[in-house]
Amino acid sequence: MGLRQGAIAFGFRMFGATGLHRAARPFTQGLGAILMFHRVAPPRDDAFQPNRGLEISPEFLDLALAQAQAAGYELVSLDEALARMRTGASEFPFLALTFDDGYRDTAEVALPILARHGAPFTVYVTTGFADRTAHLWWVEMERAIAALDRVRLDIDGLVFDLPARTESEKQAAFRALYWPLRQGPEERLLTAVAGLCAAAEIDGAAIADELCLDWKGVRALAHHPLVAIGAHTLTHPMLAKLHANDARREMAQSRAVLEREIGRRIDHFAYPVGDPASAGAREFALAREIGFASAVTTRPGMIFADHGDHATALPRLSVNGNHQTWAALDVLLSGAPFMVWNRGRKLSVA
Ligand SMILES: [Zn+2]
Repeated sequence: MGLRQGAIAFGFRMFGATGLHRAARPFTQGLGAILMFHRVAPPRDDAFQPNRGLEISPEFLDLALAQAQAAGYELVSLDEALARMRTGASEFPFLALTFDDGYRDTAEVALPILARHGAPFTVYVTTGFADRTAHLWWVEMERAIAALDRVRLDIDGLVFDLPARTESEKQAAFRALYWPLRQGPEERLLTAVAGLCAAAEIDGAAIADELCLDWKGVRALAHHPLVAIGAHTLTHPMLAKLHANDARREMAQSRAVLEREIGRRIDHFAYPVGDPASAGAREFALAREIGFASAVTTRPGMIFADHGDHATALPRLSVNGNHQTWAALDVLLSGAPFMVWNRGRKLSVA
């Protein structure tokens, strides 16, 4: 558990024990929130699951939707959420649900649960995952380290030679590699992970086929009345690291490809990875210029009326696989933690 994860867990316990988040709610909750999901799948028992935060169980999705509705939240489409940002009014706090990347389990596992709750949702599809040409590098890194006894890497000034025999050695190796690679150039990250996959004799490209919808699946999902499809680039890069022309191409082309494949207008976009190092002022302006009605980050925060003027820099709340309880989600949805994390600012849009 990293420092940030530790702070988050502490925050959940502190607010949960004191009930302070409920007192703060009228000041911190805003109009509602955009929730971010990745995979929805039955829990696995492998001890080494460094990407566990990106995966929740079908049971928890079901419980969270039931509890949210019982607590008075209204489940709305992203278009409806945008309309409420513009008018600055929402009679009940809203939740707009979003699923990233275009996983098979979004259609096969999450959709039946969402449909039972009548919940509209947006799916951000990376066209290269549907094409099987782009890499889910974080999963490839997990699979490679799971298979290797020793992790060796020597690339552009990054040198590692780490034991990876036991679960704790694997955790340590993943942690040691993940941040330096993620923080460095996109190309070095992809080359390094390809090298790990080669050493582990894992076909990285096959992972997109295993986990992600193909075009037939994307088209079927797109035609469900509760679903809106959004763009999520061609190759899932951290856009802020690319030259402006490449970033623009990733955003505009992915929209064009999706519109051609599903025969619908694409109005919404999600920045891959989505933290401040992946999406900032330049990308927010690009999304506006390209004509997206909205674009979401992974910066945590609630939605306030002022976001109507910053619709290409929207925050989201991650429904995190490490905290699959209603108590934790209830604390998040109060908005209270973000006043602490964002040091009292409602908006983080620069
Ligand atoms: Zn993504």
